[in-house]
Amino acid sequence: MRGSRVWRKVLGVQQVTIDGFGWESDKDDEVLVIDLHPTRAATGRCSRCARRCRGYDQGGGVRRWRALDLGTTRVFLQAPAPRVSCQEHGVVVAAVPWARPGARFTRSFEDTCAWLTARTTATVVCELLRITWRSVAAVVDRVIADRAGKTDLLGGLKRIGIDEIAHRRGHRYLTCVVDHDTGRLVWAAPGRNSETLDTFFEALGTERSAQLTHVTADGAEWIHTVVTKRAPKAALCLDPFHIVAWATKALDEVRRQTWNQLRAGGDQQEAKAFKGARWALVKNPGDLTGRQRTTLAGIAKTNARLYRAYLLKEQLRMVFAAKGQPGRVLLAGWIAWARRCRIPEFVKLAKTITRYLPLITNTLIHGMSNARSEATNTHLRTLTTRAYGFHTPEALISMAMLTRGGLCPPLPGRNDP
Ligand SMILES: [Zn+2]
Repeated sequence: MRGSRVWRKVLGVQQVTIDGFGWESDKDDEVLVIDLHPTRAATGRCSRCARRCRGYDQGGGVRRWRALDLGTTRVFLQAPAPRVSCQEHGVVVAAVPWARPGARFTRSFEDTCAWLTARTTATVVCELLRITWRSVAAVVDRVIADRAGKTDLLGGLKRIGIDEIAHRRGHRYLTCVVDHDTGRLVWAAPGRNSETLDTFFEALGTERSAQLTHVTADGAEWIHTVVTKRAPKAALCLDPFHIVAWATKALDEVRRQTWNQLRAGGDQQEAKAFKGARWALVKNPGDLTGRQRTTLAGIAKTNARLYRAYLLKEQLRMVFAAKGQPGRVLLAGWIAWARRCRIPEFVKLAKTITRYLPLITNTLIHGMSNARSEATNTHLRTLTTRAYGFHTPEALISMAMLTRGGLCPPLPGRNDP
């Protein structure tokens, strides 16, 4: 192998000629700077459409791109960055085979960064790659835009879930669309109103909207209105995830009242036993720790009203585990029970559920309790609360698409799994 070929192989770049390299000191460190230029075939192409164009000028002169480290050493590629004049895109910097347009990192570096970000914490990524979180966010944005442009995320959709996700401590919202069959996030945009959702259906197009068989959503009327108009043939179902969340919220309200009464009554002993009750009550029984089970048993003995609320929540969960006709029978029983349970929060919930009964019946008949999309929903909610400085909703969407949209790139030099 000749020198240039060895370097191309080591750096994972193609269509380039290596001109030389040298050491340079940077802070307390020595970095390797490799001079190179694109081969003739890769020269003078538009960075947007890759078409060959007329040269324009020398642009900003020589540029540098951070490449993957070689062993312990930081590496930079250095090359002239002339501008070309594209008939369609005007005067733009010419494409280079080793990096995405506008990037300060090579493609291999960016793919590695995105791959790591999907799998480990921000701190680890930043320390390992020696870059800031801000750079990581920009890299993820670019990688996602690049890969989303090459895949049709909206192809073959049949059963989808539409959801609103709060971020910025509940001050802002994203509308997200999840594919129930793959569990993937296929679309997301800032906002929560019919205009936002209209954008999704416009991207999907009339023909593909007509192929939708099931759409799940929460109780938001604007979602129902848009879906009925845009996908009239699809069965509209209420997401079990949200219905159970309503019951959990009602239960938590009853718990809060009970706690306040205990404190006002000055019963220290009982108030103490009540500590940690929240998790014991809201978690699924199978996930309870030994201690939480004891707390729950204590509640059953000393606080009949709160325990009744707990049973109502659990019974509603069972409705969706049962599905189909058995689920419908259980639901009818649940409504009758909740109506006369003398707990205002659950009487109210029984009314809400009765109002949405046709949609909930759809949910049960079609067996729409999809664990995959629920995992994605849970993940999205975790993402919004994680201490990542998402400065824009777009950055948050890119991160969500990276981890849940199936857009994470493979590691450079390996085959797409
Ligand atoms: Zn162009």
